[in-house]
Amino acid sequence: MKIAVIGFGAAAIGLLEKLKDTEHEVHVFEKSKDIYSSSISGIRADGKLFVSTEMGGEIYIDPHLQKRFVDYYINFTDNKEVETGNSFASEVYYKKFYEKGFLPITSQFYHIGTDQLKEVLYNIYDQFSKSKNIHFHFSVEVAEVNETAQGVIINGDDKFDMAVIAVGRSGHKLINSVINQYPQLIRNNTKVDLGIRYELPNHIVDELNREMYEFKVKYKSRTGYMVRTFCNNPSGYVVTENYGDFTTVNGHAKMREKSNNTNFAILASLVLTEPFNDPIGYGSYIAKLSNLLAGEGKVILQTYSHFKESKRTKNLYRVHPTLDSKNFILGDVNLAFPRRIIESIIDFIENLNTVIPGVANNDNLVYAPEIKFYSNRLNNRISDRLKFIGDCSGATRSIIYATAHGYLMAEAILSANYNSDI
Ligand SMILES: Cc1cc2nc3c(=O)[nH]c(=O)nc-3n(C[C@H](O)[C@H](O)[C@H](O)COP(=O)(O)OP(=O)(O)OC[C@H]3O[C@@H](n4cnc5c(N)ncnc54)[C@H](O)[C@@H]3O)c2cc1C
Repeated sequence: MKIAVIGFGAAAIGLLEKLKDTEHEVHVFEKSKDIYSSSISGIRADGKLFVSTEMGGEIYIDPHLQKRFVDYYINFTDNKEVETGNSFASEVYYKKFYEKGFLPITSQFYHIGTDQLKEVLYNIYDQFSKSKNIHFHFSVEVAEVNETAQGVIINGDDKFDMAVIAVGRSGHKLINSVINQYPQLIRNNTKVDLGIRYELPNHIVDELNREMYEFKVKYKSRTGYMVRTFCNNPSGYVVTENYGDFTTVNGHAKMREKSNNTNFAILASLVLTEPFNDPIGYGSYIAKLSNLLAGEGKVILQTYSHFKESKRTKNLYRVHPTLDSKNFILGDVNLAFPRRIIESIIDFIENLNTVIPGVANNDNLVYAPEIKFYSNRLNNRISDRLKFIGDCSGATRSIIYATAHGYLMAEAILSANYNSDI
């Protein structure tokens, strides 16, 4: 078969790993100009790899397969050097959080770091490009995919027996165009996670960072919203993320270069009900409103006490932001965020402070907006020729889950099981 793979990220890596050196002719189309060019993705920044059945996606991935892919990525580092930890392996910590109403999420994790990821990606690409049946086409943004009786047509002229779409979140334009043509592909989508990135001095969370590096907890706040921590970065850096028409905030950590602060996201999960059907639109509006206040391409920064009291921040005190000053404006997040979200986040931080004193210090830093979009969950049973893997399918939200999803899809293709529910 002649197979088109659109996008070269985590999911495509899993797929190619299984399809390499088979009789199928595989063409990979990637919009970036080369292997290093950035798209917004954890496979190009940070690289925290998790083994967990409680997070990472909407499908079940056997933990053994997850661990296999963790080892796969680590084996492509030059010296196999990664930071590792086990969140909530210690019963003492588990109980401490549980007692205060938190739901601790257990996982093993391995951190490659933004700096090392470059060589990992290159080494993977290098290996695939030696495979005779895999052909890479960089600088090709696929804007159109049409299924016809003769095959799948890409960008109006290239014909394939099958297309596997693996464009992640940054490929939302292509996914929207495919969904407009084939609305029956959508299973559901009503969720969006909205919140802040929180930054505080390392010493406040030192013990926790040493114990588990990545601490993930959920908490049912008094507003009824579920609030969670996400992407903890000990000695890390806050960065902005440019989505084209709006800018959000994010964080990452490097393997070698370290800061004096820890940052993590605090996100409230909104599950809206019918007739609402546009969580991406809702989240984007809030992001745009924040950018309108902060100035184009900038995010809002506020101290925690001002965030609580809804006052504009004019000066900072002891905590120095790791985000470059050209990327933020001191302001008031309350002017952009709905009250219920703000109250949920404050409730979360105040409660966390009872477990980790200092988390609610007045001068800790709040950056906004941080938003996690959930892609529409797509149905891979609708078409034999058009398949979706990784984050764009709505089935995954992490490097390991996306990689495993790609791998499982390749297994299904190789066994001609086109109706598989993955
Ligand atoms: C800033 C950030 C940090 C993250 N950190 C982590 C982390 O530490 N650990 C973790 O597990 N997960 C992390 N994630 C999530 C993780 O990156 C994703 O879950 C995972 O990469 C999804 O894999 P994917 O293959 O579906 O998409 P991606 O890895 O995003 O790959 C999609 C590829 O498709 C290409 N593409 C897009 N549109 C087109 C088009 N029209 N034509 C051709 N090519 C196209 C893109 O350029 C990209 O290379 C992070 C996400 C972000 C945004």
